[in-house]
Amino acid sequence: MSDAPDANVRILVVEDDPHVRQMLALLLGARWRVELADGGVAARDMALASPPDLVISDVRMPGIDGIDLLRALRAAPATHDVPVILVSARAGERETIAGLEAGADDFLIKPFSGRELMVRVQARLDVIEMRRRSTRQDEALAALQRHSEWTEKLLDSLPVPLWLLEPESHRVLFANDAARRMTVEPSARGDGLCERLALSRPDEEGGGALDVADLMPSREEERIRGRRVVSMTSEGSVWLLADAARLPALHDHPPVAVLSLRDVTELVRKEDLLRSALHVRDEFLSVASHELRTPITTLSLQTESAFRGMTAAHADGAGTEERTMRKLLTIRRQIVRLEQLVEALLDVSRLMEGRLQLSPEEVDLGALATDTVESLAETALHAGSTLNLHCASDVVGRWDRLRIGQVITNLVSNAIKFGRAHPIDVDVDVETNGDRAARLRVRDSGIGIPPEQRKRIFDRFERAPAERHYPGLGLGLWIAKQIVDASNGTITVDSEVGVGSTFTVRLPRSS
Ligand code: ADP
Repeated sequence: MSDAPDANVRILVVEDDPHVRQMLALLLGARWRVELADGGVAARDMALASPPDLVISDVRMPGIDGIDLLRALRAAPATHDVPVILVSARAGERETIAGLEAGADDFLIKPFSGRELMVRVQARLDVIEMRRRSTRQDEALAALQRHSEWTEKLLDSLPVPLWLLEPESHRVLFANDAARRMTVEPSARGDGLCERLALSRPDEEGGGALDVADLMPSREEERIRGRRVVSMTSEGSVWLLADAARLPALHDHPPVAVLSLRDVTELVRKEDLLRSALHVRDEFLSVASHELRTPITTLSLQTESAFRGMTAAHADGAGTEERTMRKLLTIRRQIVRLEQLVEALLDVSRLMEGRLQLSPEEVDLGALATDTVESLAETALHAGSTLNLHCASDVVGRWDRLRIGQVITNLVSNAIKFGRAHPIDVDVDVETNGDRAARLRVRDSGIGIPPEQRKRIFDRFERAPAERHYPGLGLGLWIAKQIVDASNGTITVDSEVGVGSTFTVRLPRSS
């Protein structure tokens, strides 16, 4: 019970005797806000207009008396629960019964002391306060209940199975709809999850049963993300990705562990299918290119020998026909092209299986470029381009001779192919800055490459769309990049559409 003044509490005093009214106003006004009415009618109007916290009313008054006022207040929704203390001159039994029937909260019998008045009023106000507090608590509890129902509904709407677990025992505190559907029997509060889900490690981790504890992070800051696990169900193995976290205690919530398991069985099946499809394709590429190579080699040898025979006959003065010679030259060029294509295909299958083995040896890059460029001279001539070679001496390093030769061949072949019959420059030198890497540049004045294509041309099977009418598989630059990467070097391109392209290869000399 509090004796402190509280101006927020409004008490309506109803008394027809002005002296008594004044006395009550003085006594009560010391602690609360007091409003005065001289009769039942005025009191009823004031109370209905603005319900007070408490009414103290005399019983005997002319017009509407205290009992009528009480009935009127109880009948109106705005005032039906306002506490009313009735004051009567003597303990009249009839009045008391009528007052109680009408719903009076307390009686004060005249004469009463100031102290008694204050105590009775304060007791009533305390009851009101307690009632209000308990209503507020009920409301808060109901709001909490509604909120947790809403949260559960929200979690139920998730397609991903999700459990809230006790962090230590891993007993289920909550399982959403998807989680309940997943377990053999519905998982209810208090269940141990391990018994419900027959979890095991995937074969690549050695298989074996898995405990939910094995899926949980050991510390609060840790998270488990996308760990692969298998669940054995009556319909076979289900592949799952587990995510888990420990939430620390927050406000009134104790710490909980959160586990979600995403079913990726369909994806894993598709991945297996894709992998085997890729394997079949690579096998096919490998077999096909091997098979193609054999007849081409024979063709090549036979043509070469026929060509040499005719050249010798021509030198001896035999009347070999010019036209046949030209035809043979064409055949030879086409065979070289076929050989390159088949080699490229073979390289793709080798590179995709990670079988690019480099055999580094001491190589003079200038000499290698000279040999390679010479071997392409005839192709260049046929395309109407001249090849200008500028080699610094002694650009020596440890590289795979055949593979770097292949890089040069691919770059120079492209320069011939896309070079619009303009001269082509091939430069070999040593960079003046940094680690003094060896540098090879192939510059043409051809069609150029649009900026958006420049990165993609180094990808497998990528060709600039506008250049579809140039023959090629879109593999040359990809192979060149694989070789340069494996040699710890870099390959870059500068280009301007309609002006030409420069491909630059940098190779560290120490690798
Ligand atoms: P492709 O066998 O098609 O030439 P590459 O991998 O060697 O395959 O080249 C990929 C694509 O890059 C080519 O199709 C072409 O569009 C572009 N490209 C390569 N070199 C040049 C160049 N010197 N000038 C213009 N475009 C080029």
